[in-house]
Amino acid sequence: MATRKLFLLPGDGIGPESMAEVRKIITYLNEEKGLGFETDEGLVGGSAYDAHGQAISEGDMEKALAADAVLFGAVGGPKWDSVPYEVRPEAGLLRLRKDLALFANLRPAICYPALADASSLRPEVVEGLDILIVRELTGGVYFGEPKEIIDLGNGQKRGIDTQVYETYEIERIAGVAFELARTRGNKVTSMEKRNVMKSGVLWNEVVTATHKAQYADVQLEHMLADAGGMQLVRWPKQFDVIVTDNLFGDMLSDVAAMLTGSLGMLPSASLGAPDATTGKRKALYEPVHGSAPDIAGQGIANPIAMIASFAMCLRYSFNLIEEADRLEAAIAAVLDDGIRTGDIWSEGSKKVGTVEMGDAILAKFKALSA
Ligand code: NAD
Repeated sequence: MATRKLFLLPGDGIGPESMAEVRKIITYLNEEKGLGFETDEGLVGGSAYDAHGQAISEGDMEKALAADAVLFGAVGGPKWDSVPYEVRPEAGLLRLRKDLALFANLRPAICYPALADASSLRPEVVEGLDILIVRELTGGVYFGEPKEIIDLGNGQKRGIDTQVYETYEIERIAGVAFELARTRGNKVTSMEKRNVMKSGVLWNEVVTATHKAQYADVQLEHMLADAGGMQLVRWPKQFDVIVTDNLFGDMLSDVAAMLTGSLGMLPSASLGAPDATTGKRKALYEPVHGSAPDIAGQGIANPIAMIASFAMCLRYSFNLIEEADRLEAAIAAVLDDGIRTGDIWSEGSKKVGTVEMGDAILAKFKALSA
């Protein structure tokens, strides 16, 4: 039986509460489906700082590097607001992204039919929505040099950020988008600003060439990123996979996320390059939300973002497509039954806590897997 190594980093605030619900699903998959997940657990963020004075220890970094996939909860909270900058809770997540070389950030925006009414857009615009934003995560204007503020000596200053992309960075993120499109609706929309940015011209050229050389079977369209933002709120169902750079991806993925409602519902995955011998990609799966200190410890957090992140892990790290489909279907079925945590509750539905929501999803998952 293949061993599947998972490294769990629950983190702070509602991270551990949400991760506990995923652990139940892993236990079920091991005990009743024989899937052989081997789990280990570490500390990250404020909890790691309290234990080791670091946002993640070297030992836990080694475990993360050795794992097939890392499941990450959330980090941060007011308790650690004044710790030194280098060891602030977020430094743990940044270190993981950097050392695992996670250059592709995947953010699905799925609208569960039962929640279509909760969107700020009309239900018919979002009902059944299923798009995936692939954002380049390690290059572009957030990292390009020079990056500085210069004092011009005349009472003025100049702030500089530099947008830099090289061919290989665009090729590899485009490759991820095309490959994912093949497993979905077979369409990629590439977004940049080639009308005003040289990096946008190169982005467009390289995506086109990558498509022609390796992925001609996938439908490709190009869209200026500003027009893309407009189209995302006008008629989002026209998209399947959107691939874009770090800056535009940061904004467009937040726009897409909000099409579908609460932060407590949104999963994400970050992937690295395939290993030369095994072909496996380093990967980290995490909910989009933070540690929600305002509700932490009360047992009312919505665990769906964390559970849906585990569904992405089943799909992308372990190729357990049927299990991933069933887990996502279990979430949809529980929502259809009108079961809701407080963040997505509406009149006429049943309000439950974190554990009850996790139990309801596990029960549906078991029923669908029987
Ligand atoms: P947040 O996402 O933690 O919370 C924003 C609001 O959404 C809060 O009212 C919270 O109660 C609610 N919320 C979030 N997730 C929820 C869930 N699963 N169920 C129900 N309600 C939920 O963002 P914030 O308040 O800006 O930040 C809080 C802390 O989290 C800060 O320390 C911040 O730095 C950190 N943070 C961490 C990450 C991460 O770990 N990746 C991401 C964002 C923020």
